[in-house]
Amino acid sequence: MTIKKSSVSLTVDLDAQGVQHGHLSLPYSHDDSAWGSIMTPLTVIQNGSGPTVLMTGANHGDEYEGAIALRRLTQTIKSEEISGRLIIVPFFNYEAFKAGKRTSPIDKGNMNRVFPGKVDGTPTEKIADYFQRYLLPEADVVLDMHSGGRTLEIVPFAAAHVLPDKEQQAKCVAAMKSFAAPYSMMQLEMDPAGLYDTAAEEMGKIFVTTELGGGGTSRPWTIEIADSGVHNLLIHLNMKEGQPVARQSLMLDMPDHRCFVTSTSEGLLEPVVELGSRVREGDLIARVWDTNHTGTGPVEYRSPLTGVLASRHYAGLIRMGDSIAVVALVVDEGD
Ligand SMILES: [Zn+2]
Repeated sequence: MTIKKSSVSLTVDLDAQGVQHGHLSLPYSHDDSAWGSIMTPLTVIQNGSGPTVLMTGANHGDEYEGAIALRRLTQTIKSEEISGRLIIVPFFNYEAFKAGKRTSPIDKGNMNRVFPGKVDGTPTEKIADYFQRYLLPEADVVLDMHSGGRTLEIVPFAAAHVLPDKEQQAKCVAAMKSFAAPYSMMQLEMDPAGLYDTAAEEMGKIFVTTELGGGGTSRPWTIEIADSGVHNLLIHLNMKEGQPVARQSLMLDMPDHRCFVTSTSEGLLEPVVELGSRVREGDLIARVWDTNHTGTGPVEYRSPLTGVLASRHYAGLIRMGDSIAVVALVVDEGD
């Protein structure tokens, strides 16, 4: 079987020195543009020798801190400030980003569920395939910055995963800690299949992800965490000089699927504890009120663990199957 060449092309040279701003170009023929292309902006910065860091924001199109920090970085960083190479894609799922949605409106593609992608698939699958076969292999370190999007609000954390290769895991954890978000999370994924995270980790890369807020917007203090986190990571990797921004980080762990509190009802959500609060196992964390009737009691949701309320449903109404909350264990009090 011959492996097909990707129809994605870059308008920049990955091997050139200096700063290049260009695009990842994917032909996309549609009603409004017969010979059109999806032009995803990217910047490549290289100076001398050193590691390659592949940085992405807006993997989900309604998550903004990473997009802002990386878009700024393309404008502000000088090649002489770094040793090595940065490949910066601020708006990973560009069509989703432009629409302000989690997934791409042109093919419903969720970039973080389609890896390793498909060379002859949908536009989102083709871009994932290009990252899988062309960009990830170039990288030593991969930073993919998420937030909660329109439906979730999450305490700001950098995250690593439990990996079979403990040496690789230790490097990921060290990189996560260097980011110095207010929380550092050993993150359990609900379903690791198709994740960009999994693709990068299976290739042996040092991989760091984040969740930095949510609600389909960004805030000055969470943007600052993204900005300083990128700066700190580059210093940690010996790619940039300077002092890291020090910040206390509370170490959290998601040991198993008990962490996820899923709604089994539909209605009006009444959060009972604030995001980031300490909770004890059995504490009431939310009520859901039936809106089809009056005169009935709410469905109550209780914390499955003693820990921190790390994530919550953002909107005022909730449906069956929505994530109400994530409760994570506290590992230590930071250092
Ligand atoms: Zn996301």
